[in-house]
Amino acid sequence: MTEHSTVYDCIVIGFGGIGSAALREAANKGWRVLGIDRFGPAHDRGSSHGQTRIIRRAYFEHPNYVPLANRAFEMWDELNKRHRTSIEIKELITKTGLLQIGRPESEVIEGVLHSAQLHDLRIEQFTPREIQLRLPLFKISENHIGLFEPDAAFLRVELCVAAMVNQAVKRGAEICSDAIVERWFVEDSGVVRVLTDQGNFRSKRLVIATGAWSAEMLPDLPLGLQVLRKQQHWFQLDRVDQRIENGFPCFLLEQDNGDCFYGFPEIDYLGMKICEHSRGTPIVGPGTMDRSLNQAELDRTTAFMKSHLNFGRQRLVHHSACMYTMSPDGHFWVDRYPGFSNVVFAAGLSGHGFKFAPVLGQHLIELLEGVCAPELEFLGVANRLADSRQ
Ligand SMILES: Cc1cc2nc3c(=O)[nH]c(=O)nc-3n(C[C@H](O)[C@H](O)[C@H](O)COP(=O)(O)OP(=O)(O)OC[C@H]3O[C@@H](n4cnc5c(N)ncnc54)[C@H](O)[C@@H]3O)c2cc1C
Repeated sequence: MTEHSTVYDCIVIGFGGIGSAALREAANKGWRVLGIDRFGPAHDRGSSHGQTRIIRRAYFEHPNYVPLANRAFEMWDELNKRHRTSIEIKELITKTGLLQIGRPESEVIEGVLHSAQLHDLRIEQFTPREIQLRLPLFKISENHIGLFEPDAAFLRVELCVAAMVNQAVKRGAEICSDAIVERWFVEDSGVVRVLTDQGNFRSKRLVIATGAWSAEMLPDLPLGLQVLRKQQHWFQLDRVDQRIENGFPCFLLEQDNGDCFYGFPEIDYLGMKICEHSRGTPIVGPGTMDRSLNQAELDRTTAFMKSHLNFGRQRLVHHSACMYTMSPDGHFWVDRYPGFSNVVFAAGLSGHGFKFAPVLGQHLIELLEGVCAPELEFLGVANRLADSRQ
């Protein structure tokens, strides 16, 4: 097996959503950094593909995420400026607003209002009739309300990953694609050894950002991760008001039974993307997940569409299987590896992590430098693992 002689300042395992951001951050510091991935930059086998991701501030999951979302918006704007060197290059982030719908006492509506009040965020409230007048595609139940966050946006997910890898490489990062990390360990000297099917590497520091494969790379940590298969669908509808040029926003709707569906404006020939955020099928091996169309998941989404959208006919144009890596409480795990101050990881992003990629990438590199960010401590392992053992 090849023993590579370079001792890197930092190795990043996995350059998907979070790893590509960490790679860029490390390269910006002038570190000699190597990214290793079992696929290539911006592939469709992990959790960072499917055209679009929503970015929002009024965070229903917990108000602690609001300051991180504020920073994420700034960082994506900055990244976009560097990436978009000509008008022909598609933007990474597109502002559409986000309409969140549900009963006033639903988790989403209560959570959005709570975060908005605590952090003084601008949110507009609409009745079902007001929503239908403005956005006739929606069929809204009388017991629902809509909360509109005007600054929310979507990110072009593959372009974002590719842009971060691109910027890292321009700053001197090396990348090793199609290489599977088998294991890693820290030598007595403190140097990290990373063993792959393309040879062995050494580094002073290590970032582990392996998404759905995190349990394999962090086998000694009881993080309680569960990987869920999630199906993304794109539909053509027999109307046009859902198109982005007609001002259609992103949306998320919580049904009365707690199930949540979301969608995006139609941005190209694939049609309108509509998916389920709730539920999902547990899977064991991310590498062997069945990627063919799951009829039951499609049926749930089309049933949602029939109940909540006004259209005559729809046609499924495209579908793609993706993965949520759930933590037990739905909050991310981002911390130093216990016992090793030169090894950090991000795992269990629980289906809502992409928007924070630049923030988490920066945080991982800062943790390696011994810098602690109090606003990210709620994502750490020490207290939460202790709590879960009580
Ligand atoms: C359908 C869907 C919709 C979503 N919607 C949103 C949304 O609207 N907003 C939002 O913020 N988030 C959303 N998310 C969540 C978000 O996309 C993920 O949290 C995020 O992309 C995960 O990034 P990651 O870096 O952890 O994983 P990935 O991007 O999958 O990266 C992990 C990388 O590690 C590599 N790897 C793994 N093991 C190894 C190994 N042993 N050796 C080498 N390389 C390895 C993989 O090849 C992969 O490239 C959604 C997720 C899905 C699936």
